[in-house]
Amino acid sequence: MLKKSNYISLHNKISKLDISMSDLTEYFRVKCSNCGHQRITHDELGKCDGVMNKPCNSGCDKFNPE
Ligand SMILES: [Zn+2]
Ligand SMILES: [Zn+2]
Repeated sequence: MLKKSNYISLHNKISKLDISMSDLTEYFRVKCSNCGHQRITHDELGKCDGVMNKPCNSGCDKFNPE
């Protein structure tokens, strides 16, 4: 989990970017056509880790936007 201090520093970085928090949220909510999970469940390489108590059973290792 992200520590509060890390969260604040990350938040400050994001607020300097030319991107709104709602755009960012939309980005992470885009679903994957391989496994049906949202972008947020996939790591930086595109591998899906599944949702909290449900691992991804599709073996998705490349996020593919719907
Ligand atoms: Zn998945
Ligand atoms: Zn996926």
